[in-house]
Amino acid sequence: MIVAIDGPSGTGKSSTSKAVASQLGLSYLDTGAQYRAMTWWMITNGVDVNDPAAVATAAAKPVLVSGTDPAGPTITVDGADAAVPIRTQEVTSRVSAVSAVPEVRTLVTELQRSIAAAAVGGIVVEGRDIGTTVLPDADLKIFLTASPEARAARRSGELTGKEAVDVAVTRAALVTRDAADAGRKTSPLAKAADAVEVDTTDLTLQQVIACVVTLVEE
Ligand code: C5P
Repeated sequence: MIVAIDGPSGTGKSSTSKAVASQLGLSYLDTGAQYRAMTWWMITNGVDVNDPAAVATAAAKPVLVSGTDPAGPTITVDGADAAVPIRTQEVTSRVSAVSAVPEVRTLVTELQRSIAAAAVGGIVVEGRDIGTTVLPDADLKIFLTASPEARAARRSGELTGKEAVDVAVTRAALVTRDAADAGRKTSPLAKAADAVEVDTTDLTLQQVIACVVTLVEE
């Protein structure tokens, strides 16, 4: 059983995907974390993320390893735990530039396919292009949406300490990142023709999880 869950940020993709995988005994892969890890490596190694040629040349260097237990997913880069540093505003604001580079996408897509193929019993894979490009033969494809206001409110609520920003700033950053992700030439953020769209604006997380579990079991 392969479940692809795509959609823009702040739609509840991660929380939903992890909970669905846990409930159904499936593995879980956060593909956004892989693009973030690639971006973090580029920043810490002095690669100019706004130079696509430099990013393309460097893309094969970092070794990304994803742990797929939905109860505790992990990501390491060259053996170092990257779970915390990939969530900074610096990485978030630069990841779309790195993920738009075709050489990056080719490498990361191959990695994602090999992880999905190795998952015993099945896997829930969340991202932006899973249903359209990475796993077009997935058994079930879900596309989560929500209003920009709802997405910004959820993301603001996840930020703490010095990175906490107001909802208006978060909304503007989300809209900019989604536009970049949807506008890139190679495998943009998109709903697959055979995906089920779920608008989560007025749903609780528990309702979204129940909806997806029902769709898997149908
Ligand atoms: O899901 P998350 O917000 O962590 O994703 C971070 C970024 O990774 C996205 O904004 C997008 O640029 C990139 N991404 C992608 N394709 C995916 C998953 C994420 O391009 N399948």
